[in-house]
Amino acid sequence: MRILLTNDDGIHAPGLQAARAALSALGEVFTIAPERPRSAAGHSITLHKPLRLERLRLPDGTVGTACSGTPTDCVTLGFDVILEQRCDLVVSGINAGANLGWDLTYSGTVSAAIEGAVLGLPAIAVSLVIPRPPSDPLDYRAAADFTARLAAWLQAEPLPAGTLLNVNVPHAASETAQAELTHQGRREYVDRIETRADPSGRPYYWLAGSIREDVPDPGSDVHAVLQGRISITPLHLDMTAYPLLERLRLRPPV
Ligand code: MN
Repeated sequence: MRILLTNDDGIHAPGLQAARAALSALGEVFTIAPERPRSAAGHSITLHKPLRLERLRLPDGTVGTACSGTPTDCVTLGFDVILEQRCDLVVSGINAGANLGWDLTYSGTVSAAIEGAVLGLPAIAVSLVIPRPPSDPLDYRAAADFTARLAAWLQAEPLPAGTLLNVNVPHAASETAQAELTHQGRREYVDRIETRADPSGRPYYWLAGSIREDVPDPGSDVHAVLQGRISITPLHLDMTAYPLLERLRLRPPV
């Protein structure tokens, strides 16, 4: 099995090393990740400047590739240049932080897996839910074990074209933690913008905010991780709202 492993936290992120170690039992792991943290890069690609790849030795002694571009660039270049288009699985993660609900389109982690699906490859995104209060260092073991189990399962159960799996693992998940198949939930933020003043008195802004603590709907990714279960959400690239399409066909807007 030839596995392309990437992330959006950067080539030096502990979650990437944890995933690499767990996946190495399944085959050859090719690590290609952004040279610096690129969280919230979404599905962006680099068009207006050259992209560089640099091979380097990772903390575990293996060789990886740092890429000057985005997580999506990593998958594109990794597939073509590093794996020479021979790839069985794309794994993105393990991200330091959940990727749930409406956050998915911001996520570089999920977007890298989406790019895997765009290339016609089986793809999974894996994120570790950071506990509150945060634990330092984060413990990736349960998430890494689950990533390897899921990757092994995917060998026998290929996903349909244009689909991928988004996985979120609670921080304290044990080996026996239950996994739940979920749908994408809602995640809304309050107080999103923090305004401050620079030394000359001009305002500047931080995007911040806290998550609105609604009662999440059962069956959703948000609900599953709140209950301490591993969430697996199947996603597809087709963002069409089919019920709305049907309604608009009955009452066309134009
Ligand atoms: Mn990240």
